[in-house]
Amino acid sequence: MNYYNLKDTEEVISFKKASIKGQGKEKGLFFPESVPQFKDDFIKNLNQFSDEEIAFQCMKDFVSDEIPEEELRKIVTETIQFDIPLKKINDQIFVLELFHGPTLAFKDVGARFMSRCLSYFLKDENKKVTVLVATSGDTGGAVADGFHNIPGINVVILYPKNRVSPVQEKQLTALGGNISALEVDGSFDDCQNLVKQAFSDKEVNAGLFLTSANSINVARWLPQQIYYLLALKQWQKTEKENPVICVPSGNFGNICAGILAYFRGLPVDHFIAACNANDVIPRYLKTQVLEPRKTVPTLSNAMDVGNPSNFVRILELFHDNFKDLKNKISGYSVNDKETLRTITNVYQKYQYILEPHGAVAYYALENYLKENPDKKGIILETAHPVKFPEAVEKATGYSVEIPETLQGLMKKDKKTTEINPDFEELKRFLLHQNL
Ligand SMILES: *Cc1c(COP(=O)(O)O)cnc(C)c1O
Repeated sequence: MNYYNLKDTEEVISFKKASIKGQGKEKGLFFPESVPQFKDDFIKNLNQFSDEEIAFQCMKDFVSDEIPEEELRKIVTETIQFDIPLKKINDQIFVLELFHGPTLAFKDVGARFMSRCLSYFLKDENKKVTVLVATSGDTGGAVADGFHNIPGINVVILYPKNRVSPVQEKQLTALGGNISALEVDGSFDDCQNLVKQAFSDKEVNAGLFLTSANSINVARWLPQQIYYLLALKQWQKTEKENPVICVPSGNFGNICAGILAYFRGLPVDHFIAACNANDVIPRYLKTQVLEPRKTVPTLSNAMDVGNPSNFVRILELFHDNFKDLKNKISGYSVNDKETLRTITNVYQKYQYILEPHGAVAYYALENYLKENPDKKGIILETAHPVKFPEAVEKATGYSVEIPETLQGLMKKDKKTTEINPDFEELKRFLLHQNL
């Protein structure tokens, strides 16, 4: 499969090149040249296939012959090596739990797939690659875990000092080995600016082969389709009608993967983009005007995005047909008060603990179902409640325990290098650490 740049359609490259490069000219996103269709009896009988087989069938056309079948099977098997259960909350609402991966957020799926593809592609190149990433919390942990101990790759993570949660900080700083954490005495924006400077600095790029692991990389975006298939596999055991799927959305990579799966033949009745107060897309769906805005901070901070970069891929899937898009996707904007109230209500009524991102989705789906009472739906719960303990405790009075899988990590020492938000300091680190 080849991929074209949405900003410059003349630029067409392989899966390998697209996953190493990340983005194309003019910062354009890559998009697959065709939308491969699922076979009818595959989609109608998902229950008869193992999760690993479903994951392989989902990904093979996008990778085609660039990774041999046996290797790709190994990669997808490792990618989904944790539970992705669909749980019933009530007669109309189900939850797909995407937080059982090693860093307790759905980003594990994309990060694990991408890291293993890169490792395969770089094996014979005799080249060391440095993955440079700025994080406000979640992305860095998933990337660190995904790339930990992967040969040929070093990871350097920049995070803002004192601005990530204790669990998040351990996930960034305690792994060691090929993962280095830089604690920047500044904000997330400072971290991101330093990373941008590094990518355009001649000396740094002469000394190191830099790549980014951000969410627009096709190798992080495409594997997210897998869990929509696994959701349908579980759904089909008891339900006859097609589900409405509601996705808590920030950069719109996750929901876009689901919509891609729909265009390939996955039976989904309707999609809901659930946003917090950062409501660029819900506004667009009302007005047809796409207007990026400054972000406002919210409780569901992984969705504090003012210019969702993956939305152009959704427009491409709908061939820019606004009417079709509006028929298939609804948008909701949910504020912090409604988010907390939803966590409280769902806990009291069903003893189920949502965290803020899942609660935004729950609220949106509940409202959609009020207007469409004969439908049923699935929300994606994208993080474990322990990652957002303050909001959860405030809403439920319940203090969430750190799961066993994380307790070992919490006992490990934090190892970081502190730097000022000064590019010369980052440069010195990158060029003199024998990465
Ligand atoms: C990243 C993230 C999101 C948003 O996903 P997008 O693909 O950027 O829309 C939602 N919830 C959590 C917990 C996240 O970490």
